[in-house]
Amino acid sequence: MARSSADATRLEGAAAAKALHTELDVRRRVTEGAGLVDVFETIGDLGIPLMFKPLTSALGLCLPAPLRGILITTRRGLHIQRFTAAHELGHAVMEHRGSIDLEILERGPLAPSKGRDLQEVAADAFAAEFVLPRWLYRHHIRNQGWSVANDLVNPATVYQLSLRMGASYNATCWGLLSHQILSRGEVDALRKAQVAKLKTALGDEFKPGSSWSDVWRLTEKDNGAQLLGNPDDLIRIELKEAASAGYQWQIESLVGAGFEVLSDSSAVSRDPLHYGGPILRTVIARPPVSGVDELVLRERQPWSPTIEDPSFTLGLALNGPEAGGLSLAERRRRGALT
Ligand SMILES: [Zn+2]
Repeated sequence: MARSSADATRLEGAAAAKALHTELDVRRRVTEGAGLVDVFETIGDLGIPLMFKPLTSALGLCLPAPLRGILITTRRGLHIQRFTAAHELGHAVMEHRGSIDLEILERGPLAPSKGRDLQEVAADAFAAEFVLPRWLYRHHIRNQGWSVANDLVNPATVYQLSLRMGASYNATCWGLLSHQILSRGEVDALRKAQVAKLKTALGDEFKPGSSWSDVWRLTEKDNGAQLLGNPDDLIRIELKEAASAGYQWQIESLVGAGFEVLSDSSAVSRDPLHYGGPILRTVIARPPVSGVDELVLRERQPWSPTIEDPSFTLGLALNGPEAGGLSLAERRRRGALT
């Protein structure tokens, strides 16, 4: 069967995103760095002016050459800002005429394209491939030790995957389908999950500061990770503790760094259940309002503190959506932020 022009256009959009990944060495930078594609930084790398404004009538817009420029609304969450910026970047890279984008751009691969402007179909495909390439799924699945058959069919796992890739839950589900990691039926089942309920389950009785904020479930697999999130996200840290040898995670350092510790519990690891085995320490904490860049926890025997004790480190960029003007990445580039 001949491919429809919309299918061919989608392939073109995805190919343009892949070519840009290669040109800018994005895969290496992402997999050796923060684990997510920095869309705003990429736009800056290409010398395309990018500004954030409180647009009410549009999510984003792209001015065509010779003006060249991208404008993104400040009135949406960070994940939508990132996806919209990737869509506008697609217009710019593929040298489309100007575009004003009014609606949510995370249309899945099965969205009807009939009657749609092909430039919009191409920019959507560019954005999906640029933010959520197959290799990024593989990177996180491998890092976390997840299995496709057992873990990725679980909405709670896919929610955590989406946070690590800096994308919405929905966009992450669509990528699982378009990269043929899961079947249509499996993705349909995932999309029925209510993200609000996933957050509630993770936070026990505690909730993040707002409905669009997130709850991160972090384990030893996340040691060294860089989190991109919101200031009022909740952090749930689950770490094994060699309690029978007298080791304890020094949760006081969370308090010292300004975190509010909401709950701190220990349970015998049932995996496998054996006495004297490690304890699973679970801490739920709210980050400080003043912000924090890094968190270091150490597991110590209180009577013999040494600097070689096991440690758990996180980089935190909980700045939330871009608030206006230049992006944080651009301000860093210009030396306005230290
Ligand atoms: Zn568009």
